[in-house]
Amino acid sequence: MTAARSAARPLGTTTGRFASEAVKVPAREWGRGPCDDGAMAERRGAPSDPADPAVATDTDVVCAIVAGHLDAEIVHRDDGFIAFLDHRPVFPGHVLVCPVAHIANLNELDTAVMGPLLALARRISLAQQTALGADGSFVALNNIVSQSVPHVHLHVVPRRRHDGLHGFLWPRQRYADGQDTEVAAALRAALTEV
Ligand SMILES: [Zn+2]
Repeated sequence: MTAARSAARPLGTTTGRFASEAVKVPAREWGRGPCDDGAMAERRGAPSDPADPAVATDTDVVCAIVAGHLDAEIVHRDDGFIAFLDHRPVFPGHVLVCPVAHIANLNELDTAVMGPLLALARRISLAQQTALGADGSFVALNNIVSQSVPHVHLHVVPRRRHDGLHGFLWPRQRYADGQDTEVAAALRAALTEV
């Protein structure tokens, strides 16, 4: 264990955060949070026009934070990307990494943006390890289904071994005989079209 890790606050507290980098954006109160599916259900499928002020108001908290209309603990911002604390974290230090430009979901994400987005998620994950004592992270992106905010965002959740989350998301099942062959063939065929 490094000196930095031994000095880090435990993940179980709410005080462990990137205090030296956090920037407070003066803004209105939070509405419902980035992980609250119900609040965003009615926006699913809505047009994603960055020129439409409605995008950046009540439902798209990412655009609202980018515009300074919502308060957030921002841990990183540059011309292309913003990363801030999910205000209802799975564990303290749970960060959402997003392109600054309004992009609704993974389907609309330009491939040129994907590398830098994942590179920033990697840096956030490393920072969670050095600053918060995390052993690793869970990196996930809800695409349309269960996507609570209509602005693409990558969750970077600090993880510790034996933190109790193993298997909580994905109960596994088995393929019926031959079903895996059919599914794989369908996917291979579809991949020639997209
Ligand atoms: Zn947006």
